[in-house]
Amino acid sequence: MSAAARFAPSSIDALLRDPSLASASAAHGATSVTACLRTAVDEARTAWRDGASSDDAVIVARTLRLLEERGALRARRVFNLTGTTLHTNLGRAPLSEPAIAAAVQAMRHPLALEYDLDGGTRGDRDDLIEHLICELTGAEAATVVNNNAAAVLLALDTLGGAGNAKKEVIVSRGELVEIGGSFRVPDIMRRAGCRLVEVGTTNRTHRSDYADAITPKTALLMKAHASNYRIEGFVSEVAEATIAEVGHAAGVPFMVDLGAGALIDLARHGLPHEPTVRETIEAGADVVTFSGDKLLGGPQSGIIAGKRALIARMKKNPLKRCLRCDKATLAALEATLMLYREPEHLVERLTTLRWLTRPRSRIVAVANAVQPAFAEKLASVASVTVEDCLSQIGSGAQPVDLLPSAALVIRPLRAKGGGGVLAAIDAAMRALPIPIVSRVSKGAMWLDLRTVEETEDLLRSWAGFVFPFPGEEVIR
Ligand SMILES: *Cc1c(COP(=O)(O)O)cnc(C)c1O
Repeated sequence: MSAAARFAPSSIDALLRDPSLASASAAHGATSVTACLRTAVDEARTAWRDGASSDDAVIVARTLRLLEERGALRARRVFNLTGTTLHTNLGRAPLSEPAIAAAVQAMRHPLALEYDLDGGTRGDRDDLIEHLICELTGAEAATVVNNNAAAVLLALDTLGGAGNAKKEVIVSRGELVEIGGSFRVPDIMRRAGCRLVEVGTTNRTHRSDYADAITPKTALLMKAHASNYRIEGFVSEVAEATIAEVGHAAGVPFMVDLGAGALIDLARHGLPHEPTVRETIEAGADVVTFSGDKLLGGPQSGIIAGKRALIARMKKNPLKRCLRCDKATLAALEATLMLYREPEHLVERLTTLRWLTRPRSRIVAVANAVQPAFAEKLASVASVTVEDCLSQIGSGAQPVDLLPSAALVIRPLRAKGGGGVLAAIDAAMRALPIPIVSRVSKGAMWLDLRTVEETEDLLRSWAGFVFPFPGEEVIR
């Protein structure tokens, strides 16, 4: 064994006097530096047992590295080049500038959150946004909670849960959906204390299925928008207006969980039509629930819009207090909704809509601008070309590729071992100062540039890219 006979690093006190650790202590405080130093010494001891020599310089360097890692935020900005524009795992909707400014102000200063400035009396935090929701959707009243899952829970609990004599909620079998992992309509319904009454079949449900299922115990008719899947072929669902009519004839309210919840007709912007909240209310829905951070383009939140008497009951439900939004969210949501009042400027101001409607030619221009830098760094292992692709909207709009876009396509030069090369490139991209998240498909890596509006940050981050040569670990 060539290693030093003894594990004999200098004492912690002596190591702390090393000039670089002394200046680190001045910057971060001795507590942090000592904690990292102890870890580095422990690691060195383990390495020494495996045959490495022990060396103060190595311990000091490792301590500085650990300090840097400790100081790095886990909530890291990333480039979303996956082609899924509103990516749930990457934070969904980007906020528009006015929403960001409103959120920052709300975070920095005291805010008239639940305070009526006219009367100098206590107010309701829903007052910040309720008038805007009503104006933009035609609803009589509205309330807002932490996300759409919470909105559905609050609505169900209020209309059919504990304390209600009627608990039965009628839903079509074709709509007993799971949305992203843990939100399943039947589970939420059980948690809300409602009794699920399934009607129809997976592919077909008719007016009579709803009508025949109504009993004196029916609390609600519910429709869940098919957000993340589509059934094709021999299918039939009942129009909102018809379900509303059946419900109203029996004195039963009708609720629609709209999911994405568009406030404007996206078809006017060349996008596929998504049912709007206004259309749904006009069709007779008494309660509509939708997300604030999907197509709406605002902060994570869940909005419930509908009949005044029903919304009033939700506001009084103790669960509302548990599910309410914080001040930064409400401020950002208010500023986002304000943008919809000036529809002529919406595309340029609402980042979500600007991303979704971006002309392919602009995306191609960005792809062409960054291609040389990518090609150069990868020249020895892969080709980099600019190719057409299709982006998805994401976040529960129709789950099909539909937005013409452009991507950098990275293909390994040699088919043999190509998968390993792509995996190594992918890992190195995720280790960049601003990580790049892409999509690997059909033996190539696709970097959809829809969400990159200017190239500066991407190119600066990419400048730090180092390809790990075969057998080497990814260099961080
Ligand atoms: C997305 C979605 C939900 C969940 O909304 P969150 O805002 O993610 O809580 C519920 N229902 C439908 C139909 C959805 O599309």
